[in-house]
Amino acid sequence: MFRPTALIISLDGCAPEYLERSDIPNMRRLQRQGRYLIGDAIVPTVTNVNNVSMVTGEYPDKHGITSNCYYDRRRGQEVYMESASHIKAQTVFERLHRMGRRTALLSVKDKLCTLLNRGADIAFSAENPPQWVTEEVGTPPSIYSVEVNAWLLEALRLVQRRCNPQFSYAATTDYAEHKYGPNEEEARRHMELVDDELGRLMEQIPDALLCVTADHGMNEKQKAVNLRMILASACVDAFVVPTVKDRYVPHHSNLSGSAYIYLLDQRQRAKALEILSGTEGVEQILPEEAARVRYHLPRRKVGDFLAFAEEDAVFGVVAEKEVSEVRMRSHGSLHERRIPIMINRSETCERRVLENKDLFSLVLNELGDKCES
Ligand SMILES: [Zn+2]
Repeated sequence: MFRPTALIISLDGCAPEYLERSDIPNMRRLQRQGRYLIGDAIVPTVTNVNNVSMVTGEYPDKHGITSNCYYDRRRGQEVYMESASHIKAQTVFERLHRMGRRTALLSVKDKLCTLLNRGADIAFSAENPPQWVTEEVGTPPSIYSVEVNAWLLEALRLVQRRCNPQFSYAATTDYAEHKYGPNEEEARRHMELVDDELGRLMEQIPDALLCVTADHGMNEKQKAVNLRMILASACVDAFVVPTVKDRYVPHHSNLSGSAYIYLLDQRQRAKALEILSGTEGVEQILPEEAARVRYHLPRRKVGDFLAFAEEDAVFGVVAEKEVSEVRMRSHGSLHERRIPIMINRSETCERRVLENKDLFSLVLNELGDKCES
């Protein structure tokens, strides 16, 4: 009997430019035989927001995740959104579990696994893999390596073979993209490794619905803007949370293309807005209400302002300077919104897929659930 199977693979930080090359034959085949489009990531363009949107099919105003971390005003401290209890919407795993479908979640970083795993029958990360996986696939390479994503996809093939889940979600890490631009040798090697594994996966489960996308893009950044210092020099005290801020500092140094700004004194809103509007590297500054409406953000956790950086700028602290020169790759701004979406079925065209989160309804449809959207 035909047993429908669906997979979503999120290639972390995979801007469409990484796929503009001829030596990734399996992805080329996927694009040619199925459907390939450049879609949109959810704003802000950071990992947690987009992965949660993909596994819930919702915007942040419904699922509650606005960044990797937020500032809790009442307690006066930063809160990392690493646990599933922060997600306010039902996950695809919970929904399918209720229908009696077996599901699997694989991620490179453990923080994504603990965030997304609610309802998943099988869930593990490359940081903390179970023994039955390492016995077959080997010990995973470092999470800060170009090879770790290929390991994850090999583990995914093992899970499909051994556990036969009807839905699997795999999230790679963007270490390679943070470190290397699309034309650098190591980035090319990374995509080749990923492409090889995808080829093997497509061979192993040819009838499955396979969706390959990204959580956000990635761009080169040249200047870091210290918004807190700029506001402080005009006597406006604020707490600034760059949207990529997390505990995994080595590859992005907590420098992000967007930031939430929490004023310590609400009476300084007009003054802060005026300063930020004229600040170098700031492309757009949205008061909380406008940000909520435009980008479907929840009422809490977004501070007083949401600031977006220009394409070559990031917000964060590099040195005790207002603006520092940097040479790095990061995301979080509106310029990392473009993402690839590849689906191995051309007949899925009638269903609207514009953003990575729309793959959710495609999966539910494939597995026989009714989806309203
Ligand atoms: Zn990411």
